[in-house]
Amino acid sequence: MGLVVGLEEKLPSGFLLTTVEKLAGYMRKNSLWPATFGLACCAIEMMASGAGRYDLARFGMEVFRASPRQADLMIVAGRVSNKMAPVVRQIYDQMAAPKWTIAMGACASSGGMFNNYAIVQGVDHIIPVDIYLPGCPPRPEMLMDAILKLHEQIGNEKLGPNREKIIKEVEAAALAAKPTHQLKGLLA
Ligand code: SF4
Repeated sequence: MGLVVGLEEKLPSGFLLTTVEKLAGYMRKNSLWPATFGLACCAIEMMASGAGRYDLARFGMEVFRASPRQADLMIVAGRVSNKMAPVVRQIYDQMAAPKWTIAMGACASSGGMFNNYAIVQGVDHIIPVDIYLPGCPPRPEMLMDAILKLHEQIGNEKLGPNREKIIKEVEAAALAAKPTHQLKGLLA
């Protein structure tokens, strides 16, 4: 979830906030602008998504921006090497808030087949991720599906006190949850 700074965050909870939430969500989801950069083979599929055959423009988001200052969506397309990690983080930091991230492909999501010292084992080690898109490489249709799912997520995003309430509920549920595995051996 991207950081938000603005008046909409200061509104008290109630009818007005709910209305502003819906309006802000509608406008944000329909005006996503991705940052222009690609890291490896997945980037070829991302470029194909923007070309005529798949026509990302149908979703109003074909305007890949050359400057991170004008972008609010980061599509991490390809494996992230340790050398590139600080650069990816810098681009993310320079993007306008609120901002969102798609980890495109197995490598960006988890390191993929590159289980070695040179590759970051999932881009979520360096930036927050909103959508993980599996595949090697994911096809343009899959990227579009991920973007539509992100639209849905952004359209339902809560603001201010409503969001704080949800964060508290999620934290409480996580603390109350039973462990999903049993510790064995020396750790038991
Ligand atoms: S997921 Fe596959 S296509 Fe994408 S960067 Fe990794 S190896 Fe390349």
